[in-house]
Order: sequence, then C-alpha cells, then structure tokens
Amino acid sequence: MNRTKETIFSKIIRKEIPADIIFQDELVTAFKDINPQAPTHILIIPNILIPTANDMETEHELTLGRMLTVAAKIAKQEGIATDGYRLIMNCNEHGGQEVYHIHIHLVGGKPLGPMLV
Ligand code: C5P
Repeated sequence: MNRTKETIFSKIIRKEIPADIIFQDELVTAFKDINPQAPTHILIIPNILIPTANDMETEHELTLGRMLTVAAKIAKQEGIATDGYRLIMNCNEHGGQEVYHIHIHLVGGKPLGPMLV
C-alpha cells in the first residue's frame, strides 16, 4: 500500500469536504470523529502528512507536542478532563490503523474500563 499519498484527512484540513472541526491552528486540526465510539470522540491530526507513528521524526516534535497540548485543552473544553479520558494512536494493521495520516483519538465521556489489547 502506498502510504505517502494524501488521505481524506488532508481534504478535511483544507475544508474541501465537510467535518465538524472544533479547533485548527497552523500546525494541527481537531474534529469530531464521524463514527464516535464514546460520548466524546475527537481526532487531533497534524496539518502535514505523517502517515504512521513509525514516520514521526525529530523535525515533527513541535507539531506532535501541539497535538498533545491541544488534546488536553479540548478535554477541558468538553468537560471530561476531571473524570478522565483516553488518548490513542493506532499504528499499521496490527494497531488497527485505517487512515494513514496520524491522529490522536481523544475518547471519553463515560467510564472506559481497562485498556483492551
Ligand atoms: O485509528 P484509525 O485509523 O482506525 O481511525 C480512523 C478514524 O477516522 C475512525 O475512528 C473513523 O471513524 C474516523 N474518520 C472520520 N472521518 C472520516 C473518515 C474516518 O472521523 N471522513
């Protein structure tokens, strides 16, 4: 599979297709997952294409850090910070990755139970 190609997430970033974008700055975009797995399910993605966690490099550290701080801010805005939530990044087939543009899943709004592996 060619994993250097743009995905649907690039079109969401450029607003070429509709998405419920809740935050965007020069480095990252956050939007509601189209198929939520919990009351709160938001994806935080870099504006540049990084296909998988394996492709994260030192030069991406500012963007990767921004993804995490934006996730924390959104968790507070959504009112789930105190009760808690989960941040997930899937990688490749065994990790269950479907879209090859890295994304942090911010999920919460209910007790999530123990991490399933
Ligand atoms: O980690 P993984 O690659 O499996 O997750 C991809 C996520 O992107 C899914 O949760 C899916 O619902 C979401 N998605 C979306 N909007 C799209 C396409 C996929 O929110 N247009």
